[in-house]
Amino acid sequence: MNQTTSLTPEKRSKPILKQEIAFALIHLAPLGALYTGATTFDWILCGVLYVIRMFWVTGGYHRYFSHRSYSTSRWFQFVIAFMSQTSAQKGALWWAAHHRHHHRHSDTPADPHSMKIYGFWYSHIGWIVGPDFKKTDYKTIGDYAKYPELVWLNKYHMVPALVLALVCMALGGWVNGGSVTAMFTTAGFSTLFIGFFLSTVILYHGTFSINSIMHKFGRQRYETGEESKNSPWLALITLGEGWHNNHHYYETASRQGFFWWEFDFTWYILKAMSAVGLIWDMKGVPDHIKYSKNRKHAQELRRQYDASRPPVAKDGVTSSSKAEEEENASVH
Ligand SMILES: [Zn+2]
Ligand SMILES: [Zn+2]
Repeated sequence: MNQTTSLTPEKRSKPILKQEIAFALIHLAPLGALYTGATTFDWILCGVLYVIRMFWVTGGYHRYFSHRSYSTSRWFQFVIAFMSQTSAQKGALWWAAHHRHHHRHSDTPADPHSMKIYGFWYSHIGWIVGPDFKKTDYKTIGDYAKYPELVWLNKYHMVPALVLALVCMALGGWVNGGSVTAMFTTAGFSTLFIGFFLSTVILYHGTFSINSIMHKFGRQRYETGEESKNSPWLALITLGEGWHNNHHYYETASRQGFFWWEFDFTWYILKAMSAVGLIWDMKGVPDHIKYSKNRKHAQELRRQYDASRPPVAKDGVTSSSKAEEEENASVH
């Protein structure tokens, strides 16, 4: 959320087309269904895989790896990274490192994908297909880069998506063709084109819309010093990520809908996962943040709330210093 004095755009390189063949093919692959046809099962799988993988994009790549908004075990952390990467949005460490840069430099020239500075197409897709942001900045994500299994998965980032593609073909063979061995016939390929590839493409643009249009259209509840906005429509199609202004204001929270009417399906699923012990330490939103207009106002509210509360907790840590710690943790 740092503002620089100059808003002169950095020079950004144009895409090198031969590096982007796989990305272009993923967009064209659903057209294969013109040849194979598609079954009801393929369309249902397309919807189901969109929802499941959108959850992992937001609950995994975003709320876990980028913002550490909850804790988990080492084995489940690997599951989170693997499931996030079935979306074919590169490695969890790559994704999270760039996202941390986005928060540090929101809507300034150093933001990888500012719509304000670089326009819609660049912020939506140009920064991904261009050569400037291909590498993982391991320093920015050092807290997770210390785990070799995550570094391995980040390097071979397409493995989870390839595994899922094969599973889709096997399911297609079984459901459409009567046997898993039919996976390499049109029965399996129609599921691959619609169930896997079409949902992957829609998932790309659902995710990318947060980077582009959520910094332009919608309402800004909190004065964050950048352009992030809230939109119930985007929250619906991205399972809660549309409360983007809330999120920029207090990024450490596991929830992005701050009020009960701000539906946040990712948060509901995370709550269920916490209830069965898969994750824990989900971070909430303190009242002085929730009901404030900007950081200065939040400080005033915190003082007011603290004055009306018993000052010292049992362990000798005041509620105010706890809140302060949380708040500082949210500011990069
Ligand atoms: Zn974020
Ligand atoms: Zn943003």
